[in-house]
Amino acid sequence: MEEWIPWGQPQTRPPRYDVLFEPVTIGPLTARNRFYQVPHCNGMGYRDPTALAHMRGLKAEGGWAVICTEQVELHHSSEITPFIELRLWDDQDIPALARMADKIHEHGALAGIELAYNGMNGPNLYSREVPMGPAHLPVATFTYDPVQARRMDKQDIRNLRRWHLQAVKRAQRAGFDLIYVYAAHALGFLHHFLSRRYNQRTDEYGGSLENRIRLMREITEETKEAVGATCAVPIRISVDELLGEGGLYQEEVEDMIGLMGDLPDLWDVTLAGWENDSRTSRFGEEGEQEPFIRNIRKLTSKPVVGVGRYTSVDRMVSLVNKGILDMIGAARPSIADPFLPKKIEEGRFDDIRECIGCNICVSGDFTQSPIRCTQNPTMAEEWRKGWHPERVRRAKTDKPVLVVGGGPAGLEAAQTLGKRGYAVSLAEAGTELGGRVLKEARLPGLSAWVRVVDYRRLQMHQLPNVDTYFDSNLTADDVLSFGIPRVVLATGSRWRADGVGHRHTLPIPIADGAQVLSPTDIMDGRLPNGKTAVVWDDDHYYMGGVMAELLAEKGYDVTYVTPASEASTWTRNTMEQHFIQKRMLEKGIKIRAFLGLDGIRPGLAECVCVFTGKREDLEADAVVLVTARLPNEQLYQDLLAARERWADAGIERVDAIGDALAPATIAHATYAGRRYAEELDETPPRDDALPFRREVTALAPL
Ligand code: ADP
Ligand code: SF4
Repeated sequence: MEEWIPWGQPQTRPPRYDVLFEPVTIGPLTARNRFYQVPHCNGMGYRDPTALAHMRGLKAEGGWAVICTEQVELHHSSEITPFIELRLWDDQDIPALARMADKIHEHGALAGIELAYNGMNGPNLYSREVPMGPAHLPVATFTYDPVQARRMDKQDIRNLRRWHLQAVKRAQRAGFDLIYVYAAHALGFLHHFLSRRYNQRTDEYGGSLENRIRLMREITEETKEAVGATCAVPIRISVDELLGEGGLYQEEVEDMIGLMGDLPDLWDVTLAGWENDSRTSRFGEEGEQEPFIRNIRKLTSKPVVGVGRYTSVDRMVSLVNKGILDMIGAARPSIADPFLPKKIEEGRFDDIRECIGCNICVSGDFTQSPIRCTQNPTMAEEWRKGWHPERVRRAKTDKPVLVVGGGPAGLEAAQTLGKRGYAVSLAEAGTELGGRVLKEARLPGLSAWVRVVDYRRLQMHQLPNVDTYFDSNLTADDVLSFGIPRVVLATGSRWRADGVGHRHTLPIPIADGAQVLSPTDIMDGRLPNGKTAVVWDDDHYYMGGVMAELLAEKGYDVTYVTPASEASTWTRNTMEQHFIQKRMLEKGIKIRAFLGLDGIRPGLAECVCVFTGKREDLEADAVVLVTARLPNEQLYQDLLAARERWADAGIERVDAIGDALAPATIAHATYAGRRYAEELDETPPRDDALPFRREVTALAPL
């Protein structure tokens, strides 16, 4: 039998927080407190139903009162391949959903399902049905699919109402308590009918406000009638599309809500599109939505839930006390810390893992891979690997561990090993913990990232068996002299300054006298001499854009050069690309796309068009190369070279993790630290067997 060590002792909670633990009536149901996990995507969907069920169930264990699915496709005639969402096309899909509802109920929470019909958001690449919407319009997808939606006629509308109702009944059979009418985020037919941007109809479903809400009203009435007194029916709606009066705007949507007031059992209010609702911390503060939702409560007697990446408990309390929200909605805060409600309830504020607003979680959905989280490396690994965010397996040996490097990988390894009961020595070359996170959090827009360090530092403070040593730039001889049997190297990486990246796998020609800097130089405080700088971004995540911003803020004339079609192109996966490019342009940064940097001379960046190879020299006093990184692996290599001395020194194993093994995101680093700590002394996993569980689709009969 595994012996599990739970973490954290209940403390005293200030009485002013009690309001968050009052029950809330939602139609015929009672939510046990005010914490509400709103629907959120996760890149698992119909492919990984059991892993998904466990992920949601774990949040119920963490104290959320309501836990919802992501969007669930209600009919095969609207699906959003290649994205992997849940489906409720027919009865075959019920067991997977029932498993999730059961897991949520096991821990006393209510289960909500967000039924979705994407309509003109889905090109129907899998079903090959013709998409439908209020008007003849091209499908609205991120990929500009060459497909149009056709205008729905009255029969189509009757059909869709029937399909919605059939899905409602299936959702009930699967055991869900809240069955959504989804009209938000510009991501489905109801939103499209609400918005004059899409709805250009002249029949009773178009034109006036009353006409545009008609379908939402009909669907809500039918859903309520079908579920009777057993389930609640929330409406999820976007209060503003941030497009002025050309799109849905606050006053208009408030009028719509006013017309429907008490019809649904709850209003779940958001912004549209999703990128506005789930802004990264670089582009939106906690509670960014508040000005848009502050009037809703006055328009209805039903509970109102809204999101805002809320992790500040006082802020949550004030939202309730001011009568803005009845329930605190959360997607990302519940991903970063599935136990957020429980920790607040028990007054364990130092144990809260606050979301940093990086949207790496969103990238799971965009890349159709299981959701991952920078702060919570156990996310989506609850069933696959048997990890738990708040419990660890007791150490199977009492052999101490030396962790070298106090960046995200080393910190996560040290705190998890410490919780397992290992004696841990953490050696850090510098005078502070945090590694790259500490440096990057000082860059424009990234200050919230420091929470990665804060959480882990606070955890380690509570662990008497974890000792930290600063100013300890260890050599192989140092490590051998300590004789600690397990050594894990989390020594990080540094940015290259030779041009090697995605485009160039060999160093580029750099003439003598050329001024070249890397992000490492700039983060260490070195700035270019001169006035003009070219930032060459062949990394394509945030760093290139951030470097350009920083230099522009310091008064340099900056040209940002990328071989891609746009700035920071990978940030499409974190829904930031548009915001990044806008900010860069507003700061006067010139953006040159489709241009390769092939050489550097004093005062000159030698560029070429990536299509034609036509040469174009850009004048630049300095070039900042944002390309690839090199692991700081000297210590690792030295220790491997001294392997014959390990036995005498009492060393059994030496591992490199995180950026020291292969540089990647901070989320990769915390995951690597967690994995080392979870797997130490456990069996298997380092043999040929698959190191995680997976679900294989059952074959249909031939
Ligand atoms: P990761 O993202 O993999 O955690 P970071 O670059 O953020 O990596 O952190 C690496 C940390 O390791 C830095 O704080 C650095 O000062 C420290 N470090 C690097 N080499 C050594 C060494 N030989 N001894 C002790 N600490 C080291
Ligand atoms: Fe928050 Fe980032 Fe985790 Fe998403 S990945 S929940 S934004 S910390």
